[in-house]
This record gives sequence, C-alpha cells and structure tokens, in this order.
Amino acid sequence: MMNSNIKSTKKDIVVVGGGPAGMAAGLRGAEEGAEVMIVERDIELGGILNQCIHNGFGVEIYGEELTGPEYAERFTSQISESSVDVMLNTFVLSMRPDKSMTLLTPNGLLEVEAEAVVLATGARERSRGEIRIPGSRPSGVMPAGTAQELINKKGFLPGKRVFVLGSGDIGLIISRRLTWEGAEVAGVAEIMDYPTGLNRNVVQCLHDYDIPLHLSHTVTDIYGSNRLEGVELSRVDDNMKPVEGTGQDIDVDLLLLSVGLVPENDFFKEAGVTLSERTSGPIVDEWFQTDVPGIFGCGNSVHIEDLVDWVTMDGFRAGDGAVAYAGNGNLQSAEKDVVPGENVNYVVPQKVSGEDDFRFALRVEEPMENADISIKGTDISFFEKIVTPGEMEVNEVEGEDLEELQGLDEIEVEVTRRF
Ligand SMILES: Cc1cc2nc3c(=O)[nH]c(=O)nc-3n(C[C@H](O)[C@H](O)[C@H](O)COP(=O)(O)OP(=O)(O)OC[C@H]3O[C@@H](n4cnc5c(N)ncnc54)[C@H](O)[C@@H]3O)c2cc1C
Repeated sequence: MMNSNIKSTKKDIVVVGGGPAGMAAGLRGAEEGAEVMIVERDIELGGILNQCIHNGFGVEIYGEELTGPEYAERFTSQISESSVDVMLNTFVLSMRPDKSMTLLTPNGLLEVEAEAVVLATGARERSRGEIRIPGSRPSGVMPAGTAQELINKKGFLPGKRVFVLGSGDIGLIISRRLTWEGAEVAGVAEIMDYPTGLNRNVVQCLHDYDIPLHLSHTVTDIYGSNRLEGVELSRVDDNMKPVEGTGQDIDVDLLLLSVGLVPENDFFKEAGVTLSERTSGPIVDEWFQTDVPGIFGCGNSVHIEDLVDWVTMDGFRAGDGAVAYAGNGNLQSAEKDVVPGENVNYVVPQKVSGEDDFRFALRVEEPMENADISIKGTDISFFEKIVTPGEMEVNEVEGEDLEELQGLDEIEVEVTRRF
C-alpha cells in the first residue's frame, strides 16, 4: 500500500534522462499536447553534451558544427518555453512494468504514474575490471569520459604524461584536449587493426598533433603503487592475444580507458523488457517501443550512437510513439523481425510493422570498401564507399520500398561488396 506521506502525481509521458535523446522525446510529446515530465539526475539538462566542448555536433540536423553545450542549448531553450515539467537533481529509484516509478527529488520521494515511459538514460563507460588489465592498482587509471568531465567541467588536469587505451571517439577527443591543456600524450593503443572512432577524429585529434596510434596493441601491465608510474604496451596477434616478448614500457602518470560504452539498461531490466544480446540495450520497434507496451527507449540507452543528430531524431520518433501510445494505449504491432545478415554486427530497430517508413542503423563486423547495404530478397540497397565498425550506418526505408517488404517473413540486412 502506498505511504500516504509520499506525494504522487500522474503524467501522460515520463521521460527518464535529460540528454539529447530525452530532450527530443519530451519536446515532441509536449508539442503534440501530452503532459510530459523529464526526470534528470544532474543539476542541468544536456547529458553528455555538457562536457563535450569540442565542435562537431549538429552537422546533419543544422548543417553547422556546434559544440556540445551549443547543441544542448537549442533544446533547453525550447524546453524552458514549453509545458514540459523538468525535474532536475532527481533520481529514479525504482521502475515498474506498469509504468509507475519512485523518484527521489530534492523535496523528498515522489510516486509517478505514467501512460507511457521513455527511458533515455544514456550509456556508461566500460571499466578496467571489465577488460581485466593485470598489474597494480594505483591512482591515475580512469575512464576517458571521467577525465573529460574533470577537465571541461571541473577545471582539473588529472595527469601530465598520458597513455590512452582505445581509439574510440572519446579516446581520440580526450587526447587532443589533453594536448591543448599542456599534457603530453605518449600514445593511443587499439587492440583492433583499425581505429574504432570516426575517421575525421583520427585525423583531427591524433595525426594533427603527431600522437602515435599503435594498432593491434594493448596495455598488458600497470606499474606503480600509490600513483601510476607506467604501463607495458604489447602487440597482439590475430586472435587479439598479446605476443610474448613484444612488451615495451612507457612512463606515464595517467592511463585513460576508452574501451567502449554500454547502454544503461538497468531500468529496462527492472521493467521486464527483453534486451538484445548484441547491443545490451532493449529490443525495439520502429517507434522505439520495447516489448513491454508503453515503455520506449532512445539514444545511447538503446545502442551506442556516434552522432548526436541520430540520437535526436530517434528521440523525436520515440516521442511520437509515446504520444500515440498514451493517447489510446496501443500502437500498431511490429511483427517482422529485422535480423543481422552477412557482415552486420547489429541492426536497430529489431522489429518493424512494415507499414510505416523507418530508419535503420547498423554497425558492420569488418571494414569493407565499395559496400552494398541491402535487404536480402529485395532491390532495396544503399551504396557506401567505406564501412567500418566505428561508423554507424543509417538508412531509411520509405514509400514504395515498403511494398517490397510485404512478402518477407523477416527482414535480413546484409553488407556485401558491390565490386
Ligand atoms: C566524448 C564524446 C564525444 C562525442 N562527440 C560527438 C561529436 O563530435 N558529434 C556528435 O554528433 N556526437 C558526439 N558524441 C555522441 C553524443 O554526444 C551522444 O551520442 C549523445 O550525447 C547520447 O545522448 P543520450 O541522450 O542518449 O545520452 P546522454 O547524453 O548520456 O544523456 C543521458 C542522461 O540520462 C541521465 N540519467 C541516467 N540515469 C538516470 C537516472 N537514473 N535518473 C535520472 N537521470 C538519469 C544522465 O544524467 C544524462 O543526463 C560524443 C560522445 C562522447 C561521450
């Protein structure tokens, strides 16, 4: 029974997470006339954008390169003029399949019932424990995003001579940022034989500053007792196992880990949503609805996106879905599975109705030149000069193309060489 001292409220749509995904979903809901609440644990809206002071945001949507905070401001200003109820400094403590939740607000506990819920909780960085680097446990080893937050939001330089493990976008961007702040970046190691971040970031963040990129290498030891004193860097073989005798010691006082992001999926689990083994996020349809009716996801909580523009567009779409669901408690059912075929690691959404236009995003397993991204058994195909696992491919199936899907039981997306 509900404690009568605890306040309660009802909303059409509750959005958890006030990053770009959640802001887009919330704004769209309010524009369509729904009563919307955005719940954000931080003291401001914007999510990860607030610590990304480099430019490169908004190229697809605005046709210009904004910084993260500038991009965020375009949405926060609209939200402040909208009817959206923004709850800052507020944590979701528990989330239930019936779309009710308990919030911890600055004014105490609040019980909220929602017609539809959008979970836009972003992602977390993988830690040292998850990749099992041996060695001692000194201070000076941290995720790259934490270092970015310390430098850009708190004005604190966490090291003077740095090594970065992982060539994803966060690792590349923090290398340049540290160089600008006067630190020396001794190198970046990548276990794969290709960089996993966007090509433009490899050029602009490493090549332009003569920072060495060690492909097919990893950190195999960590030295130091209180503070990090150095790392051992070793070459890896084709099975990504370190090759004995190739280790070289590098003196550094900071090791940054940029070894991948994982969707924040705890609330999906609490709500009983089925997760994808490939993305670790929920299985969603073209409206970003999960298999628990009325619970939606969008942005990095569904899968790790590389451009904020796609995050925003997915947020709008999830907002549309939530409005439709909150309106009549139903959305047309998506019965066709979308499955990864040749050279596709994952594809989102994993289900579609085949009735509505939809955008699908995928990551390939292996880099490929002159690639055809196609739907097997149809003439639907998209050409890409180069595809790599580090760059998400996004394409749209619309209009007459939808008719081609009618005869298919499942939609298999594959990436093959055109010539
Ligand atoms: C270092 C870095 C550089 C990038 N550079 C670029 C770039 O140059 N160009 C580009 O287009 N994109 C870039 N991106 C990608 C882009 O920033 C992300 O894809 C986007 O911010 C993801 O948005 P999101 O809303 O899904 O998640 P987030 O921005 O992470 O927002 C999630 C929000 O949910 C909140 N939250 C989580 N759990 C709870 C809870 N329990 N209760 C309440 N609130 C909660 C968090 O506090 C956060 O505000 C970069 C990303 C990073 C990390």
